[in-house]
Amino acid sequence: MILTMKKGYSEQELLQVVWQINEVGLETHVSRGSERTVVGVIGDTRKLSKDLLARLPQIESVSPVLKPFKLASRDFHPDDTIVSVNGVKIGGKDFTVIAGPCSVESEQQLREACQGVKEAGAKILRGSAYKPRSSPYSFQGLGEEGLKILRKVANEFDMVVETEVMDTREVKKAAKYVDMLRIGARNMYNTDLLKEVGKLRKPVILKRGMSSTIQEFLLAAEYLLNEGNNEVILCERGIRTFETETRFTLDIGCIPVVQQLSHLPIIVDPSHAAGKRYIVPALSKAALAAGADGMIIEVHPNPDEALSDGPQQLNIEQFKMLMKEMHKFGNAMDKGLAKIAVQ
Ligand code: PEP
Ligand code: MN
Repeated sequence: MILTMKKGYSEQELLQVVWQINEVGLETHVSRGSERTVVGVIGDTRKLSKDLLARLPQIESVSPVLKPFKLASRDFHPDDTIVSVNGVKIGGKDFTVIAGPCSVESEQQLREACQGVKEAGAKILRGSAYKPRSSPYSFQGLGEEGLKILRKVANEFDMVVETEVMDTREVKKAAKYVDMLRIGARNMYNTDLLKEVGKLRKPVILKRGMSSTIQEFLLAAEYLLNEGNNEVILCERGIRTFETETRFTLDIGCIPVVQQLSHLPIIVDPSHAAGKRYIVPALSKAALAAGADGMIIEVHPNPDEALSDGPQQLNIEQFKMLMKEMHKFGNAMDKGLAKIAVQ
């Protein structure tokens, strides 16, 4: 249930509303938006009698939340959420670029990638130490050794860094090394993992499952929020359709839909959607044009030698060219890719 406060309410009156609702054993979630302040009520709202609601001061309206996700919904939190990852913002007016190799392969590889993506204007370094591979015979990632390399190289370049977690047992360990975690498409339905990451106070990228609906996607985010982690960034990375020319079908329409339904920032992964390098620039620009809050893109110093996802990774030069193009493109838009520093 959502209680909307009247304009001009006092702090005392808001406290009184919260107190009276808590008194009957229900939880409250206050969101102070630029336009209005709302009090979300969580729990069995049948406990709120008409009498009690009528006694609450300065309430303009009472409305039920019909959507199954509550904390993720815009009803509960009218303003956009802006997540700050050690000072790098995701959400709001910026288009934030997260870039780096699919997997951490060596210190030298990550160093070259980090230097290149930073010069091109990326604000966050990506790299996976734990890899969800379709085949057990493929490279499985460097594990903790990879986490150490991520931290070391990120420190050298003063970059913010993220990585994927796949297993509840790795969450705390990975969180010690990186500034932001990522839950991959294959784990969007892993509710134990969602709950474990939800207990942290650390930003997390949640990727959309390859065959999940937008509602399921937002319900997965709800698991993270419900544990108290409010720093959730959604990521559209393509869904499985009958098409085989692209690796997945980027659901660009998901961006405005999510933005209407939810206050959480949403970024795009053009690399895993494309599967092939030549498709990546078009999908990146489409993400910007559609109003996404950023992208996470795979860049490798030598993609032909990559131990995973070689065909879809851009080399440093290709990434620099793309960023220059996107910079021009962003200048023409309200959503400022202008905020990306291109050297
Ligand atoms: C990744 O980002 O490295 C990855 C494996 O992507 P996804 O979970 O979207 O397949
Ligand atoms: Mn990859």
